Amino acid sequence: MSGLTFKTFAGSSTTLDPSVAKELAKSIKGEILTAETPEFDKVRAIWNAMIDRRPALIARCRTTEDVVACVKFAKQHGLLVAVRGGGHNIAGNAVCDGGLLIDLSLMRTVQVDPAKKIARVEGGALLGDVDQATQAHGLAVPTGINSTTGIAGLTLGGGFGWISRKYGLTIDNLLSATVVTAAGDKLTASEKENSDLFWAIRGGGGNFGVVTSFEFRLHATGTEVLSGLIVHPLADAKKVLKFYRDFALKAPDELAVWFVLRKAPPLPFLPESWHGKEILAVAACYTGDLKTGEQVLQPLRAFGQPIADIIAPHPFSAWQQVLDPLLTPGMRNYWKSHEFLDVPEGLIDVFVDFAGRLPDPQTEIAFAQLGGAIGRVPNDATAYSHREAKFTVNIHGRWDGAANDSKCIGWARDLFKAAGSFSTGAVYVNFLTADEEERVKMAYGGNHAKLIAIKKKYDPTNLFRMNMNIRPS
Ligand SMILES: Cc1cc2nc3c(=O)[nH]c(=O)nc-3n(C[C@H](O)[C@H](O)[C@H](O)COP(=O)(O)OP(=O)(O)OC[C@H]3O[C@@H](n4cnc5c(N)ncnc54)[C@H](O)[C@@H]3O)c2cc1C
Repeated sequence: MSGLTFKTFAGSSTTLDPSVAKELAKSIKGEILTAETPEFDKVRAIWNAMIDRRPALIARCRTTEDVVACVKFAKQHGLLVAVRGGGHNIAGNAVCDGGLLIDLSLMRTVQVDPAKKIARVEGGALLGDVDQATQAHGLAVPTGINSTTGIAGLTLGGGFGWISRKYGLTIDNLLSATVVTAAGDKLTASEKENSDLFWAIRGGGGNFGVVTSFEFRLHATGTEVLSGLIVHPLADAKKVLKFYRDFALKAPDELAVWFVLRKAPPLPFLPESWHGKEILAVAACYTGDLKTGEQVLQPLRAFGQPIADIIAPHPFSAWQQVLDPLLTPGMRNYWKSHEFLDVPEGLIDVFVDFAGRLPDPQTEIAFAQLGGAIGRVPNDATAYSHREAKFTVNIHGRWDGAANDSKCIGWARDLFKAAGSFSTGAVYVNFLTADEEERVKMAYGGNHAKLIAIKKKYDPTNLFRMNMNIRPS
């Protein structure tokens, strides 16, 4: 084999003798993959098919020590580094062209201590791995709504889902993390140890090192939640959403109500005549006593003339996977996101207008409810800095085939622009797209300056730059 050409993190290129990669392979328990390895293309693929990058080397780590060896290797040779957890991030920073990809996807162990209500989760675990292990004991940690998302990227950005209004963001339940820093040091980050690092990894993304394990506080949620969808025709969406707005703003912490505007997928509970037609699907999850939940949800269920209502007690892990079939990997995706304090009528008009001209059957407007426990933590308590937001929209441009790129991207950008005047101007760092460099500072908000200071301390040369980057200078 001829020399291995890498991109350096300074932007130039360097060629290493292949024996260097062999030495690295010998020093780790995991595997080293090159372009010649049969699974190379499978391993470098990530959720968003718009991203097609070819690292020079992929290190599939199995242990924290493997990660230490890879970070030291990258530092020694000045290589560009990407870190992959679940590979879900829309911007595609989990993989780089020409660099070293530190892949944690073989590190998915989740250990639960039911007596202490603590879970220790490896950095490559997916949300479904976490739910499976914790729900075996009737316990849960708040995460996201798609079970194939990685716990690492989600947590490092903040993390919210169905039970976050009751139990806070994922980071609000983080007790400690094991972090491999740019110097190749293995550190514990917690309130007691390296507390500045602990503050920074709770919302500052992958800027500060590779997290090889997380320790979470768990909650006794039980194994069932009152949850489901109420589906309305798009023609009724304006009046339903006006009702939704008042209902959601008064909802108890136990309840999270989201909605999606899209074309109806061929779901068995929807009459066939509705398949492919524009709908409003209101998705609700009540985390608490099922009978109380029935009473709380009654007005929402009684409003209007829904096409379908499948609210019922569901196993929590099943509810956590309910949207998986609509969010499969391998499609082209372009997302745009805003945060809101309210759902004003003008915003509803914008959503309904754009939902009437969706560019693709897979494209959707996904609107999530925040608030509750999320908003009761001060903005400077962790690096996540927009806790005042009550709602967030994720404009999910999603389609198949590059021929549809400009149509779908254009629709998402137009909707983003039209909704902009109703937003707070802030954005969740985990929803940023690759072309939103100018919004990164806004995503870190009032915490940006402190994050720069901590970045300077732990990663002064910006080794970890494939992320929503906090530049050390
Ligand atoms: C279909 C879908 C649904 C989603 N739903 C939600 C939701 O309900 N709630 C929510 O909060 N978010 C949600 N997200 C956003 C999600 O939180 C981010 O995409 C997140 O970055 C995914 O984490 P990952 O590990 O899968 O990503 P990756 O693409 O693997 O990683 C993203 C970035 O995180 C960093 N990183 C990853 N692993 C590590 C590590 N171990 N150590 C250090 N840095 C690391 C790297 O910088 C990497 O570029 C969703 C995303 C998708 C695609």
